Amino acid sequence: MGRQFRCPACKEYFELEEGLIKGDVTCCSECFEELEVMSIEPLRLEKVSSF
Ligand SMILES: [Zn+2]
Repeated sequence: MGRQFRCPACKEYFELEEGLIKGDVTCCSECFEELEVMSIEPLRLEKVSSF
């Protein structure tokens, strides 16, 4: 039972893996953008790469 998060890159919702902590880097399952966990509560992820 993961958490749904809206990807800031592609605007699609994807399910986050469990056990993420601040500073972790995960990947959007829709566009494969790398996202860094900026905050857990409230949940906030930001793109790692800035093109
Ligand atoms: Zn995405």
